[in-house]
Amino acid sequence: MINYNTIKIAQGFYSIEQDFVRSFLIEGDREALLIDTGVGDGNLKEYIEQITKLPVTVIFTHADGDHVGGAGQFERRFMHPGEFDYYKNKHENRVTVSMEPIWEGDIINLGSYCFEIILLPGHTPGSIALLEREKHFLIGGDSIQTGKIYMFGNGRNFEAFRASMKKLQGMLREFDTVYASHDALLVPADTVNQLYAGAGKVMENKVTGKPGELSFDSNIKCYETDGIAFYAY
Ligand SMILES: [Zn+2]
Repeated sequence: MINYNTIKIAQGFYSIEQDFVRSFLIEGDREALLIDTGVGDGNLKEYIEQITKLPVTVIFTHADGDHVGGAGQFERRFMHPGEFDYYKNKHENRVTVSMEPIWEGDIINLGSYCFEIILLPGHTPGSIALLEREKHFLIGGDSIQTGKIYMFGNGRNFEAFRASMKKLQGMLREFDTVYASHDALLVPADTVNQLYAGAGKVMENKVTGKPGELSFDSNIKCYETDGIAFYAY
């Protein structure tokens, strides 16, 4: 059973910490937005209801198990359709719940906060980030983090990941800070430059992989370069 902890980032903006992964809760004027639902090993809905009485809509940054675990506890659920197949295949042996589509460029205006959906394929096919242009921050899912980014297995794509980082490089005037799902909560925006450079070096075989320390597959290596790291074969 997971214990949840809350970090108040700003007025109406919370990080819901769950062991090694976090969700974000943003209270708007009439509704609240929950970004990701963690591993699902707990009653997240009940926990969220202690923080806000507003109706909750969930947007998923992507469909990995540590982000969609509690999906069934909530009624309004959105995911990028580029992620739908990955979601179904990844959780073949478990029950998946229906998702409504959310698209690149969609605006979620909560009043106090306003987010734009940015499509960032690579870590998964339909990974997204949420950009708050006025407040200059990005909620980046797993694509931008100080932890090791999982890039092994079906659906991962270094080429796409690097292209997504290039896309973000062109948007660096729009945000200073990234809120990440793993490891450090706050990541400086220019980490995008390190990720772009690092992904390129891994693709060009310029980085030597070290034993990855992942117990479920000893063939997965850790590629560390430019201050960032990937897990890949
Ligand atoms: Zn994750």
